[in-house]
Amino acid sequence: MGLNVGYCPRCGKLFSRSYHEVCANCVKEIEEQYTLCRDYLKENKYATLSQLSEETGVPMKQILKFIREGRLATTDAPNITYPCESCGTPIREHYLCPNCRDRLAKKISRVQQDIGNKPSRSDKESHEPAFRFKGHAQDGREGH
Ligand SMILES: [Zn+2]
Ligand SMILES: [Zn+2]
Repeated sequence: MGLNVGYCPRCGKLFSRSYHEVCANCVKEIEEQYTLCRDYLKENKYATLSQLSEETGVPMKQILKFIREGRLATTDAPNITYPCESCGTPIREHYLCPNCRDRLAKKISRVQQDIGNKPSRSDKESHEPAFRFKGHAQDGREGH
């Protein structure tokens, strides 16, 4: 009772869930796969993703998971790329390419602008000759 038992999504075996999403055996295997990938990349920094997958025997999906989780550093591996989730452009970090992230950011900022749609104050300020008051400010500061 109170046992959280389920089927491991990775190997399909029945296991009791602890903090891991997969069974202990799979956790161990994933760790081994991670070590394989990390070590391979250390020695072959110009490897591509498919090369890494073929040489280590680790499924590409799992390697992508490591990269997206930020576990497998690709900063030193210039040839490791994977497709952007949105447009398929080869990328090396995050889920989206810079273009899609930019587009998303613009979409968000547009929504924020719509919410805070007030008369623009910065526009008015730019027309005011602020430098004209500079002399007065200096007089005030120096005159003591
Ligand atoms: Zn398993
Ligand atoms: Zn994209």
